[in-house]
Amino acid sequence: MMAAGRAGALGAKVVLLEKNLKLGTKLLATGGGRCNLTNIKNRRELANSFGINGRWLLSGLSKFGPEELIEFFNSRGLKTKIEEDDRVFPKSNSAQAVLQVMIDYLASSQVDIKLGAEVRKIIKAENRIKKLILADGREVLADRFIFCSGGKSYPSTGSTGDAYKWLKQLGHKIIAPRPALAPIILKDKFVKDLEGLSLNEVGISCRRDDNKKLGAATGSVLFTANGLSGPTILNLSEIIGRVNPRDLQLRIDFFPNLDFPELDRKLQTEFSFNNKILKNALSRLVPPRLAAVLINLSGISSQKKLDIITREERKMLTHLLKEFNLTVFGLAGYDRAMVTAGGVDLKEVDSGTMRSKIIENLYFAGEILDLNGPTGGYNLQLCWTSGYLAGESAGQR
Ligand SMILES: Cc1cc2nc3c(=O)[nH]c(=O)nc-3n(C[C@H](O)[C@H](O)[C@H](O)COP(=O)(O)OP(=O)(O)OC[C@H]3O[C@@H](n4cnc5c(N)ncnc54)[C@H](O)[C@@H]3O)c2cc1C
Repeated sequence: MMAAGRAGALGAKVVLLEKNLKLGTKLLATGGGRCNLTNIKNRRELANSFGINGRWLLSGLSKFGPEELIEFFNSRGLKTKIEEDDRVFPKSNSAQAVLQVMIDYLASSQVDIKLGAEVRKIIKAENRIKKLILADGREVLADRFIFCSGGKSYPSTGSTGDAYKWLKQLGHKIIAPRPALAPIILKDKFVKDLEGLSLNEVGISCRRDDNKKLGAATGSVLFTANGLSGPTILNLSEIIGRVNPRDLQLRIDFFPNLDFPELDRKLQTEFSFNNKILKNALSRLVPPRLAAVLINLSGISSQKKLDIITREERKMLTHLLKEFNLTVFGLAGYDRAMVTAGGVDLKEVDSGTMRSKIIENLYFAGEILDLNGPTGGYNLQLCWTSGYLAGESAGQR
């Protein structure tokens, strides 16, 4: 939408092809329906958050970065606000309002929108695309083409990775796509008992079975029916996606601000009310369902009176609270992964214009590119930046 709108605003005759019957299906789902549209970290930090490939985006961000984006929306009547971690949302908390700005932009740029228009085939002549063939047999001819068909995540929104195979046929290299920002699935069966439990400010680390730490973060986690989710987990999932998840461990520290002796003293104080049973005492420190799981793992009776808990038993509980080990099974698939890692090899795309270095009249924007960032508005900023640049260069007369 950004690419088409920008090209149209420059006076180009633009046709936008969308296979869904409406625009912006995924955009409406972003930020839990609130659309975290960007992040106002400085450009370098923003680029770094995309990992090693982020450098490629730096020049684009200096042409159309978060400041320009916020100005784009503010000047069209959409007020924005900044939340924790520099995340930017519409003041109205409405992804629909963001979509409406884009729809109005397309109208003012006189973009011809074709809905229910599924591209099925690309016809090339030498190193140019000649035409597209739609599912209903219609042919679309144009001087220039911008591919922004996204990745493979949340296929129900229309992002089914269609372009990867066409691009390979056109001679482009595709870095193997894989789910990213995905919930983590665990082997431990007791996780089911914790389903729906959300914990704030826990420490979480990811380790190999030789105990080498691969990554760590502090933040909130949400237990699901078979694993963990929530922003901290989604960001950590990137590490798991890069290695073989077999033999990986997650370790949760429920009290990251206390060291072992401090937590042990806290337990001692808590356990000094000697007329209580263990289950009740531990439930004052962590949610009761978690207390039940921890006691079960410790092998101590939940009904045990506090005055007869041994020092060793207390140490074991301290240990479980500081080093709660979980075994990774893998990542959830594309149906639950918020973005797709991999995509069009950046070496084959000009970073200033988003133009293909292989096909003369082809441009790219968005998640189709081999770039993926953490949660926090980074992934949409990639779309706005690359969309603006692609529209700007393809829209030139
Ligand atoms: C639940 C969820 C929440 C998210 N929240 C955020 C957030 O708050 N902030 C953030 O920065 N990022 C967020 N993201 C990521 C962000 O939404 C994506 O990175 C972004 O939408 C990618 O945009 P895109 O235009 O490249 O692709 P998409 O949004 O996937 O759009 C591609 C479009 O191409 C169409 N298409 C595909 N194939 C064809 C074809 N053959 N013919 C015609 N049309 C076709 C599809 O129907 C689709 O409409 C979220 C993702 C999900 C799934």
